[in-house]
Amino acid sequence: MYKVTLPSKDIPKKWYNIVPDLPMELPMTTQTEEGQQLANLPKIFSTGFLEQAMSQERWIGIPKEVREVYDKIGRPSPLFRAKGLENYLDTPAKIFYKREDFSPTGSHKLNTAIAQAYLAKKDGAEMLTTETGAGQWGSALALACSLVGLDCRVYMVRVSFQQKPYRKTIMQIYNSEVIPSPSDRTEFGREMLKKDLNHPGSLGIAISEAIEDALNDEKVYYSLGSVLSPVLLHQTVIGLETKKQLEKIDKTPDVMVGCVGGGSNFGGAVLPFIKDHIDGDIDCKFIAAEPSSCPSLTQGEYRYDFGDTAGLTPLDKMYTLGHDFIPPSLHAGGLRYHGMAPLISLLVHEGIIEGRAVSQTDVFKCGTIFANVEGVIPAPETSHAIKVVIDEALECKRNNEEKTIVINFSGHGLLDLQGYNDYLEGTLED
Ligand SMILES: *Cc1c(COP(=O)(O)O)cnc(C)c1O
Repeated sequence: MYKVTLPSKDIPKKWYNIVPDLPMELPMTTQTEEGQQLANLPKIFSTGFLEQAMSQERWIGIPKEVREVYDKIGRPSPLFRAKGLENYLDTPAKIFYKREDFSPTGSHKLNTAIAQAYLAKKDGAEMLTTETGAGQWGSALALACSLVGLDCRVYMVRVSFQQKPYRKTIMQIYNSEVIPSPSDRTEFGREMLKKDLNHPGSLGIAISEAIEDALNDEKVYYSLGSVLSPVLLHQTVIGLETKKQLEKIDKTPDVMVGCVGGGSNFGGAVLPFIKDHIDGDIDCKFIAAEPSSCPSLTQGEYRYDFGDTAGLTPLDKMYTLGHDFIPPSLHAGGLRYHGMAPLISLLVHEGIIEGRAVSQTDVFKCGTIFANVEGVIPAPETSHAIKVVIDEALECKRNNEEKTIVINFSGHGLLDLQGYNDYLEGTLED
């Protein structure tokens, strides 16, 4: 048995909200003394999205229209057994990977893009703005807007705009406008360009520009691809499906692993299992893999910080490297963010989730092994988690333990081959 599939009717009907089940209080979102950040929220997000952000309900219904699009993009996604990797490592561990690379844009990000576009459209929005780094989020939102019937404008970090032309093309195919950030479209962008006409940009700057754009037009809403609790909520379809798939083959996870940029794919995969862990129904280790060059969980401080560079977002308590931190250029662009989802941060702080930093060379080495034994070329982001899975599976071998290890396979790497190229040529930096 190499894969566990579910029929369309098993697409979850509800998202799982962990907030009411947390054994401790999630610190409140707040703002600076002189700030207007909280008052900005209703101007940039849909009512539905903000209601989800505040909700204390454990289960939140997935609108029928959203489930139909989930069906169209291939949900439920299959769960694969990594038999090839087990044999290669000669480990007694059983390794499973949840295939979020099966979607049309190649990652988990459509799960929330579709939900956010639907809620914005329902609220009367005509356009969504957003930021993108490497372009995975921008392409997911561009497609979601196209399917739902909204315009889309993406501020793309300038270095990526120059170095990753194909994702830009994907966004343009989906009729989205793509603007290199910092740009002269916004006050904050112009301020940055004044400092450096060739400013490489960063995710934090692009977020500030996209928000400023949305604040200036009431028909324009803003959309964020990670970090916020409703984004993790939408991603719980991953964990809910995985649970059903594991039940079908009579397994419970002993170790769950995912990579973390803002924490959404990992959160979506593990939060439904964290409830079982807290209730004592399972005994599972949850490991969040991050790059050693952008190590918010393992090197950051747990404190209140902004989500963007300009300070337009409210303050959230999270592990952060500082909102003006500009991470080094990194092939796993999706993991270059200074902060971390408040939900994931809290669970790390409480010792329920473990953060683990891994180096870029190990990441590409493990991604290449996986490609050869399983066939799929993992996204560089996903390969961070694969490195941790390999370490855990080797630990099982040393201790002769037959653990069940589950990894969320967040995306494929077919549009991110430069990193693999550098690895193969020996020019990759750690
Ligand atoms: C964006 C992305 C990530 C990181 O984002 P999270 O919000 O932490 O999930 C990880 N993997 C892939 C393939 C991505 O596109």
